[in-house]
Amino acid sequence: MKAHDGMYIDGEWRPAAGPDTIAVVNPADEQVIAHVPAGTIEDVDAAVRAARAAFPAWAATPPAERAARIGALRDVLVARKDEIAETVTAELGSPLKFSHAVHVGAPIAVAGSYADLAASYAFEEKVGNSTVHLEPVGVVGAITPWNYPLHQIVAKVAPALAAGCTVVLKPAEDTPLVAQLFAEAVHEAGVPAGVFNLVTGLGPVAGQALAGHEGVDLVSFTGSTAVGRQIGATAGAAVKRVALELGGKSANVILPSADLAKAVNVGVANVMSNSGQTCSAWTRMLVHDSQYDEAVALAAEAAAKYGERIGPVVNAKQQERVRGYIEKGVTEGARLVAGGPEAPREQGYFVSPTVFADVRPEMTIAQEEIFGPVLSIMRYEDEADALRIANGTVYGLAGAVWAGDETEAVAFARRLDTGQVDINGGRFNPRAPFGGYKQSGVGRELGSHGLSEYLQTKSLQF
Ligand code: NAD
Repeated sequence: MKAHDGMYIDGEWRPAAGPDTIAVVNPADEQVIAHVPAGTIEDVDAAVRAARAAFPAWAATPPAERAARIGALRDVLVARKDEIAETVTAELGSPLKFSHAVHVGAPIAVAGSYADLAASYAFEEKVGNSTVHLEPVGVVGAITPWNYPLHQIVAKVAPALAAGCTVVLKPAEDTPLVAQLFAEAVHEAGVPAGVFNLVTGLGPVAGQALAGHEGVDLVSFTGSTAVGRQIGATAGAAVKRVALELGGKSANVILPSADLAKAVNVGVANVMSNSGQTCSAWTRMLVHDSQYDEAVALAAEAAAKYGERIGPVVNAKQQERVRGYIEKGVTEGARLVAGGPEAPREQGYFVSPTVFADVRPEMTIAQEEIFGPVLSIMRYEDEADALRIANGTVYGLAGAVWAGDETEAVAFARRLDTGQVDINGGRFNPRAPFGGYKQSGVGRELGSHGLSEYLQTKSLQF
């Protein structure tokens, strides 16, 4: 695979400050497909300086012109969609069809939504005798994970550019190639030099340097709760804005009046897609006592169908981690009804689509984020019980409710401590705010709520 051996800083590819590199591995066959530079503090510093120098002019650029650049960026992503899909498949392992539909489709939709929003957003409002100006926060340090590598980048960079901020991106070490492609797309779209900068590198080196850099005004991080907590503490100590999109352990609540087969089948598909590496995945399926056995049988059958179709997980460490959770589920007394800890193939970091029944709320697999193709089916007695189980984790990112009647589902959804709920299989909306309650994070991404994260207010009184 094609890879740059430098960093994209101030509108050009520059040699990295240090000699170290990161090997990019295809998780489907374990082959090294490229190397990218492992950024150092010097690279991060150069990128932040470039972003700071570019900030005043970009902040003063009329929103319509910023919108035009984001629109052009969207068009380049569309023009290069095959290359993007192939790159994500090579470095993440996701099946090519899924890469096209989701890994390319979602970021194009999000970039398009911000091209529209930048053009139409009210960056000025009247409040009595005041005019309130919504001004860009400044230089953004964006740190992204590998699970939806381009989507995570676009969900930060597009609103930041729309707001008038400049950006330094540190993408995940497992998926830097699509980040380099994105930098090429930004360049092709005519975004001025220094407005967007890319430093590839390791989290504890380049990521930490970016999060702690005094020239960064806002850190936007998506990743694990453990690292998010650390970044939040660093930002807090520096009195710096921070947005954290963290883990999840979402509940899929199937009320007795629901279409059970549909709810179970969509629920299994939700967990297995992207090999279970979706922070908002509905990894806990809650079923009423009276329908429990039927739901378990349907889920086991549905999961078995994914055996051949599912891609690998991202790397060997993640494969071991997921297998460890499956073993823990067995040890703690959950009943395996599909899959299991054995690797289904000799080569590649594959994990069998796995379904556990008889999962109790206190079990590790019901509490911790597994980030693999593992579904836990849990039993509830009545609605109060279902609500207690659904809300009974430290997370609150997403969820689903199914019922025969939409009003019944909505009434239940309103009592869930979570940031997003799909009602009877509601579709992904790239303009709806996405983010967590509780330890799933701070702040929101996507749509106008996502844009407002990158703005600060100034009131003028008359
Ligand atoms: P991670 O936290 O290890 O890494 C995420 C990013 O942070 C990477 O770019 C990494 O290099 C960087 N990083 C690591 N250590 C750092 C440090 N000390 N300082 C600064 N940066 C550092 O997470 P991961 O394993 O890449 O991703 C999986 C996790 O991300 C899961 O927990 C998942 O739920 C979460 N996630 C959340 C969302 C969301 O929107 N809420 C989306 C995707 C993933």
